[in-house]
Amino acid sequence: MRIPAKGMDRQLVLERLEGFRADDVDWRAGRTWGYVYDPGREAEEVGKQAYLLYLSENALDPTVFPSISRMENEIVAMAAAHVGGDEQVVGSFTTGGTESIILAVKTARDAFRKRKPDITAPQMVLPATAHAAFYKAAHYLCVEPVTVPVDPGTFRADVAQIRQAVTPSTILLVGSAPSYAHGVVDPIREIGALALEHDLLFHVDACMGGLLLPYFKRLGEPVPDFDFTVPGVTSMSMDLHKYGYCPKGASLVLYRNKELRRHQIFACSRWTGYTVVNPTIGSTKPGGPVAAAWAVIHVIGDDGYLELARQKLECMKRLVEGIERIEDLRLLGRPEMSLLCVASETANVFHVIDEMKVRGWYIQPQLSFDSSPPNIHISINASNVRWVDDFLKDLAECVTASKGVPPSPIVAMATQAFGSIEPDKLTDDVLGSMLRMAGARGTRLPERMSDINEVLDALSPAMREAIVTGFINELFRQRPSEE
Ligand SMILES: *Cc1c(COP(=O)(O)O)cnc(C)c1O
Repeated sequence: MRIPAKGMDRQLVLERLEGFRADDVDWRAGRTWGYVYDPGREAEEVGKQAYLLYLSENALDPTVFPSISRMENEIVAMAAAHVGGDEQVVGSFTTGGTESIILAVKTARDAFRKRKPDITAPQMVLPATAHAAFYKAAHYLCVEPVTVPVDPGTFRADVAQIRQAVTPSTILLVGSAPSYAHGVVDPIREIGALALEHDLLFHVDACMGGLLLPYFKRLGEPVPDFDFTVPGVTSMSMDLHKYGYCPKGASLVLYRNKELRRHQIFACSRWTGYTVVNPTIGSTKPGGPVAAAWAVIHVIGDDGYLELARQKLECMKRLVEGIERIEDLRLLGRPEMSLLCVASETANVFHVIDEMKVRGWYIQPQLSFDSSPPNIHISINASNVRWVDDFLKDLAECVTASKGVPPSPIVAMATQAFGSIEPDKLTDDVLGSMLRMAGARGTRLPERMSDINEVLDALSPAMREAIVTGFINELFRQRPSEE
């Protein structure tokens, strides 16, 4: 494919873009439980307009565009107050939870390089439920992740396990509020005490809960302490593009004080160009997400967020009740916010997900890991609330339909075949032929994903990673242009 020889008609270009969406999930319908956090058309519209107002501004240099740093400072101040921070708390606006987490880990690493230069191979302790972004951070930053099991009944971090994993090389402890997979809040107070006892840094991943948990508390829910009021908590990640309902590319990393945040900032004056100083990973930095977040927060407001939270809380309670009434399903952990994790001993959950897809629902498969069996993840957002009864009715029917489905012969065969290769020996040819066998056409996956999910579930994490890496490496490449 080449750059079109002649500039195309603007209308035609936009029509083509619209057309590309035909196969995307129809999130506005409200039947997608995840991926898009939809506050309705009004907030969407405001976010869009604000984004466009600051489409071309560049937050690279806050002295040239003070407008964007002003908005950023105001957003951080509102967020800090929301999660029990005092005036000492500082933060940065980032592109997402992953960047917030990478920066928190980098800050911890560099703080310890100063504090304890004798630590040459730093470690962080991760409960098995910690988000994958911590492994990405570990990988990028050469910090060793030390994974510890969580409580197999509650799926909360097990403080005794964390304590045992602390070594003289530990720099950082991690807890989630709540965890993505199970929606439960780790014992932040106890982990904070442990961090203080060993003089460690402690990051609370509140990507999901930072915005929402304080509202659940105001609505009378027994929300455990998770924020800056807890002694020992030194940093926190909080996504605005999840329950803040801001357009994507919006998250915050917060620190207890400015002294700690200093280690996040990168400066370079050893090249022939302008002196660089970047608090976050990017350098040229879009103003759109900051302006859009500022606008959406102001338009929804505290009363709006509280009402959205009330709806999600009610929806969560009805889902819990409904799921508990379906004999073949069981919740993994007691959901403390708006994320549910559902397993079954009698029905194949991957079949259930496929059956639900036929009925227009999108719910997410989660593979087994640590004490967590294969399961279905459900994130509730505002646009799902009105569907709760239909959802439960279909879920019950799909569970019934999935019981006693005979095991697919492909699964046993593919599991065996993949299981006999070393992950780093997996070739594109082997992967391609396996995918064909599972019903894929090239990188177009089959409608029903249960075979593929079952195979993945049976394999080691390293093999799962090799397979998805090979797949994505194939998906993103040149191909004859599709007209
Ligand atoms: C979503 C999420 C992340 C990662 O955030 P991205 O915005 O997807 O990069 C990290 N932790 C938790 C708990 C999350 O829910």
